[in-house]
Amino acid sequence: MYQANDKRYEKMVYNRVGKSGLKLSALGLGLWHNFGSVDSFENQKAIIHQAFDLGITYFDLANNYGPVPGSAEKNFGQIMAGDMKPYRDEMIIASKAGYEMWDGPYGDWGSKKSIIASANQSLTRLGLDYVDIFYSHRPDPETPVEETALALDQLVKQGKALYVGISNYNGQQTEAITKIFNDLHTPFVIHQPRYNMFDRTIEKDLFPVLRKEGKAAVSFSSLSQGLLTDKYLHGIPENSRAAKSTSPFLHPLQVEETIKTVQHLNEVAKKRGQTLAEMALAWNLREPEIACVLVGASRPQQLLDNAKALDNLTFSSEELAEIDQILGNQSNIKWGAY
Ligand code: NAP
Repeated sequence: MYQANDKRYEKMVYNRVGKSGLKLSALGLGLWHNFGSVDSFENQKAIIHQAFDLGITYFDLANNYGPVPGSAEKNFGQIMAGDMKPYRDEMIIASKAGYEMWDGPYGDWGSKKSIIASANQSLTRLGLDYVDIFYSHRPDPETPVEETALALDQLVKQGKALYVGISNYNGQQTEAITKIFNDLHTPFVIHQPRYNMFDRTIEKDLFPVLRKEGKAAVSFSSLSQGLLTDKYLHGIPENSRAAKSTSPFLHPLQVEETIKTVQHLNEVAKKRGQTLAEMALAWNLREPEIACVLVGASRPQQLLDNAKALDNLTFSSEELAEIDQILGNQSNIKWGAY
């Protein structure tokens, strides 16, 4: 039977989520990949245990994570019903609805029908009475934003979620839904955008809105799916996401397109006494709006490595300028184009 490390809270940093009462571990574990029905259950358990032993309290899921869709929640639920059960109140467990989950007109997007049904399914798969955060996974251009907001608000009123979040909403969409949440007094606390050295879109568009509204962000693909690590410096290893994946995930051509930049960034990391992954995570955390950086992991050791980012979170202005210059030389990456 798993026994959590009793030193787990000694080293992790816990950041307040905007102006809310909630704190999140600076590193969160994402279960998008490696937790499906196709993946080893023993390895999944080992990754969850490693995360928790490092003081990671935030565990990020969605209805469709797998493959097969739903299997990540099912597997995580099984782990929660087993040796993680005593630790439920030390964990922030999140799920989402919005991407395609089942056939027909109610299996995706942001209608009340879809969000409520999906949340109920998630709770069943997870074997939990409530999740700590429930997100709208993406904005729905066809559903009135009030309807999506009211659906999330209902989940809170029913005790099925403690807080709500939004993901992939741009600055303007975030402002619009925030107004409605404010009117409803919904505990909307967090945004989940993609943010990493290769995708800085939200710096101009979203951060100013979050600052104004007193909200925080948890960044996804913080390592650009593994590109911002030393993994691809000498080619594409077997078993890596780029070797396994098919579009729209990480493609070998994206490795090729970015490798020169990655090599230069790796030199800066070395001068800082860090690995590239550590530097990339610390770089995300330099932004006051980022309360937590999500990382995916295919093995426990990656989490041990990534947690070392906390040993050096500060950057000199010269280091930041050098990183900006290196990133400025990167030509446009064709995400999702293959
Ligand atoms: P990521 O952290 O950018 O990439 C994770 C991958 O990087 C791992 O699976 C592993 O790949 C590699 N890696 C991690 N640490 C490493 C290390 N120290 N050394 C070498 N390689 C390392 O994240 P992501 O999986 O794209 O996203 C993280 C989480 O964000 C997801 O699980 C999900 O919860 C969330 N997310 C949300 C959305 C959304 O729309 N809201 C979208 C995407 C992701 P290998 O498998 O190659 O070892």
